[in-house]
Amino acid sequence: MTQLVWFRNDLRAADNPALTAACKEADEAGQVRACFILTPAQWQEHSWSPARVQFVMAHANALAEELAKLGIPLSFINADRFDDSITKLESHCQRHGVRQLHFNEEYGINERKRDKAVKHRFDELGIATSKYRDQTVAPVGEILTGQNEPYSVFTPFSRRWRTWVDDKQPTLYPIPKPQGEAIQPERLTHVPEGFENAPPALVETGEEAAHDQLERFLGENGGAYKEQRDFPALDGTSQLSPYLANGVLSGRQCLIAARQAQSMGGNHEGLLTWINEITWRDFYINILYHYPRLSMHRAYKPETEALQWNDPGPHFGAWKSGNTGIPLVDAAMRQLNQTGWMHNRLRMVTAMFLTKNLFIDWRLGEAYFMSKLVDGFLASNNGGWQWSASTGTDAAPYFRVFNPVTQSERFDPQGEFIREWVPELAKLDNKRIHDPSKGGVIPGGYPRPIVDLKESRKEAIARFQALKN
Ligand SMILES: Cc1cc2nc3c(=O)[nH]c(=O)nc-3n(C[C@H](O)[C@H](O)[C@H](O)COP(=O)(O)OP(=O)(O)OC[C@H]3O[C@@H](n4cnc5c(N)ncnc54)[C@H](O)[C@@H]3O)c2cc1C
Repeated sequence: MTQLVWFRNDLRAADNPALTAACKEADEAGQVRACFILTPAQWQEHSWSPARVQFVMAHANALAEELAKLGIPLSFINADRFDDSITKLESHCQRHGVRQLHFNEEYGINERKRDKAVKHRFDELGIATSKYRDQTVAPVGEILTGQNEPYSVFTPFSRRWRTWVDDKQPTLYPIPKPQGEAIQPERLTHVPEGFENAPPALVETGEEAAHDQLERFLGENGGAYKEQRDFPALDGTSQLSPYLANGVLSGRQCLIAARQAQSMGGNHEGLLTWINEITWRDFYINILYHYPRLSMHRAYKPETEALQWNDPGPHFGAWKSGNTGIPLVDAAMRQLNQTGWMHNRLRMVTAMFLTKNLFIDWRLGEAYFMSKLVDGFLASNNGGWQWSASTGTDAAPYFRVFNPVTQSERFDPQGEFIREWVPELAKLDNKRIHDPSKGGVIPGGYPRPIVDLKESRKEAIARFQALKN
């Protein structure tokens, strides 16, 4: 009886509940197979970036190699969209005599619809489907209030999450033992059309590389995380997000490694702060799960749907290309455009600038980030954008608008980050670099600020206040 593991957002052999279960069910050698379905048109619709697609392809190949060592063949199936993937999966199962399909759940609305349709069709065909809650440390939907309601505020969610972790002491799913002789892996070679132009890879490929990076971060920077994480010029954060967003690493693996580092005498506070970020990730995944409207471009706070956003016009272009005349915003946007990654502090600064100073709809910013990020992840991207725009759950209050110049003075005091990404400003002193429009001549080619920060902040607050009337 052939067991098929359908890999999607969980590109790893270690700590993978669907893979472990399939191998447990198989009672003879050679009965476990795996597949990965390419859906480039759907990826376009979901605004996936070339960086992400190429990361996924490289890691799907790496996974095929790992599984081949275990005697498990991973087949690549070409479909265009999720709808087509159902029939393709069906014929794949019939060709290989599959009796049971295993997959780890995903929580975007289209993914859920697809999985429901697969289950419906496979029930008709008499093929069993088994799904697993893998994406978060505590299974999605399990962290609820005393009234069995989802949490809408992070702090009580995180308290409950920590109690759950202490009670349950999550463990890792073992890498399965070989299911047969090692085999030759299939390999993806052709990058789908439209995804060819990616920046150079941000991180190394493979599960082993991800674990090396995790260990290095915990050993070298984890302890100082609390003090360093907000300074983009420092190597203060883990840069593990591409692995986490695509399931090369799991939240459980991160939590357990960080707790081990704590027990070995690592700086407790720093590591606790880092674990808190893994909790934020779980929080946003839960929010996406409980509120499917978030997948449909809707605000968490329905009353904010009435906000009259400005026409994006040339301001949106200036923001995208990093030519707003606000150095920290421009440096951050250029980092995003050139690497496919942006530091968390700067994601907040650029998102607030777009939504509060330019008053451009957060949905446009969300889609633009997605189209560039190698770690584009619906739950966290939507959560971060709605936080910044004050339309989300536990969001920044609408009257707390970051001033990007003050943020720059505080978190890039020597202007090192700005100098790296906005070389036209490299020669300015540490004071002027944050706001070159103040006094003196602006270096050639660098624009004046496209918006008045104080006036635009006032206007944004007024528009939010008007919602109450
Ligand atoms: C507007 C906006 C958009 C964002 N879009 C994404 C996105 O598409 N994908 C994504 O993974 N993260 C997103 N984030 C969250 C965060 O910025 C990134 O996870 C983080 O910068 C990744 O860098 P790191 O791996 O060095 O993080 P670290 O600081 O080392 O944190 C470790 C891990 O915790 C998780 N994490 C950290 N901060 C957050 C957070 N605020 N919310 C949810 N999870 C978090 C990530 O998985 C991260 O890899 C966004 C934040 C904002 C404000």
